[in-house]
Amino acid sequence: MNYPESLSDFHLTAQVIDNIDAGVVMLDREYRVMTWNTFMQAYSGISADQIMGQNLFTAVPDLPEAWLKSKIKSAFKLGTRSFSCWEDRPFIFNFTNFSPVTGGLAIMFQNMTLTPLKALDGEYRHICLTVTDVSDIAKSKTHLRESNAQLTHLSITDKLTQLYNRGHWESCLSAEFDQCRHFQTASSLVMFDIDHFKQVNDTFGHIAGDAVIKSISSLLKKAKRQSDLAGRYGGEEFGVILPGTSSELAQYFTERLRKRVEESQVKMDIRNIHVTISLGVCEWAPWMKSYEQWLECADSALYDSKRRGRNQCTVYQATPEQSAAMHDAS
Ligand code: GH3
Ligand code: MG
Ligand code: MG
Repeated sequence: MNYPESLSDFHLTAQVIDNIDAGVVMLDREYRVMTWNTFMQAYSGISADQIMGQNLFTAVPDLPEAWLKSKIKSAFKLGTRSFSCWEDRPFIFNFTNFSPVTGGLAIMFQNMTLTPLKALDGEYRHICLTVTDVSDIAKSKTHLRESNAQLTHLSITDKLTQLYNRGHWESCLSAEFDQCRHFQTASSLVMFDIDHFKQVNDTFGHIAGDAVIKSISSLLKKAKRQSDLAGRYGGEEFGVILPGTSSELAQYFTERLRKRVEESQVKMDIRNIHVTISLGVCEWAPWMKSYEQWLECADSALYDSKRRGRNQCTVYQATPEQSAAMHDAS
C-alpha cells in the first residue's frame, strides 16, 4: 500500500514522541490535552484515549494548577521556553518511581520544560510540556547534602557533650569579638570549670567523670538561651558566649547555672556524685586587642573564683591601665 510521504513522516515522528524516555504533553490555550505519550500513560495510569481533548487540570486534579497555569500563560506571552527544576519544585505530576536505584516506591523527582509551539501562521496556540525523571540525580544529591551536613556537624561538635568543640567555639568567639568591635555592643564571655574534678575521677573512675561532664553540659544547655554559644573548651572547662548581654545580666545566667549544678547529682551505681563549678565573667570592652585577650580576662576571673574558695562567680575588673585605654578609645 502506498501512503503519502508526509503521512509516513508523521507516523514515524509520532513513534519517536511515544517512545521517548520523558513525559510529553501538548496542550492548547484552553489546557486541552492534544498529546499524551506512552511515558505519561505508564506513570499516570491514564490512557491517551481517556485524556485526549480533556482539560488537563480536570483530568489530573492534583496538579499545582495556579502555578502551572501562570507559567504556561507567561511562556505563551513571551513566546519563550520556561523551566522548572526539581530543587525548586520536586515534582509536577504526582508519579511514583519504580526504579531499583531509587529504592522502589518513591515520588518521581521531575524537571519540566514548557515550549510554546509556533504554528505555520506564526501564532502560538499550543504548548509542549515535557517532564523528565531526575529521581536518581535528586536522590544522590540529597544524600550528598545530608552527608555534608552530618560531616559539618561532626567537625564542629564535641563528641562527649554535643556542645561545640573548642575549634568551632573559638571561631564563634572571634566572630563575636569582631561584631562587638564593629557595632560597640555589649557581649559577655563566661568561662567555667568543674571544682576538684580530679577527685571525681580518682574516687569514682573515669567513666563516672565522663558522666559528670555530660550532666553538667546538659544543665548548661537548659540554662542558656538559644542565641548563647556554648562550647567545651578543655577537659572539664567550658566557655559560653552571651551576645547582647552585659556582665551584670550575665550573672543571672551564671548564678542560675551554678545553683543548678550545686543542687544536681549524678547517680553512679549506688552512689551519688555532687560537684560544683567556678565561673568567670568578662564583658567585652573597647580596649581589648584580640579575642584571646578577652578569653584571658574571663579565665583570670575564673581563677579568682577558684582562689576565693570555688563554687562562685567572679566578674573581671579592668586594671587602671585598661580603663584608661578605654577612655582614650572613646
Ligand atoms: P580545680 O578545682 O582547681 O579545677 O581542680 P581540678 O581537680 O578540677 O583540676 P585539674 O586541672 O587538676 O584536674 C582536671 C582533671 O580533669 C584532670 C583530668 O584527668 C580530668 N579530665 C580532663 N578531661 C576529662 C574527660 O574528658 N573525662 C574525664 N573523666 N576526666 C577528664
Ligand atoms: Mg577543675
Ligand atoms: Mg580545669
